Amino acid sequence: MSRPRNSSRVALRRIWARLGIPADYARTRRLIPQREAARLVAIGRAPDDGKIIRLAPRAAAGWRKMHAAAAHDGIVLLPLSGFRSVPRQARIIRRKLAAGRTLAEILRSVAAPGFSEHHTGRALDLGSPEHIELDAHFARTAAFRWLRRRAGEFGFRLSYPRGNPHGIAYEPWHWCWRSR
Ligand SMILES: [Zn+2]
Repeated sequence: MSRPRNSSRVALRRIWARLGIPADYARTRRLIPQREAARLVAIGRAPDDGKIIRLAPRAAAGWRKMHAAAAHDGIVLLPLSGFRSVPRQARIIRRKLAAGRTLAEILRSVAAPGFSEHHTGRALDLGSPEHIELDAHFARTAAFRWLRRRAGEFGFRLSYPRGNPHGIAYEPWHWCWRSR
């Protein structure tokens, strides 16, 4: 495993052990380690809690172009979540465990710390004014249909389509920017 920038491998192993994440998680899920972004820029605020959303600079530039192109077509894309640190990812999992969900269930919708594309500052969870929930119904919105058609032009790809090999549920809201 390569070393995520801000958390040593040992720290990550400790976090995993505490959460009970199996050692073969990455291999069986065919997931690769994701490094934490070195630089981040603000792109907006989450509509629910008002928290500032950040992306890596090049992903942010792609987002701004995509957002403008969508607006031009009458589509409002709302950013719901961007960069997430390794400790924040661990907190999300701990909160769900505390709420009584099983780890297996949680790992179908949340990547283990160190393996979330959100660590890189290139992944963006998107909604639209009529749909800000992170659920599969987003796929029925005009915003999603627009993304399917146009997101690739701006470097964004759907990471977890139906039947993806990572054992992660269909996430029509999760788009990741990749340099071309
Ligand atoms: Zn996401």
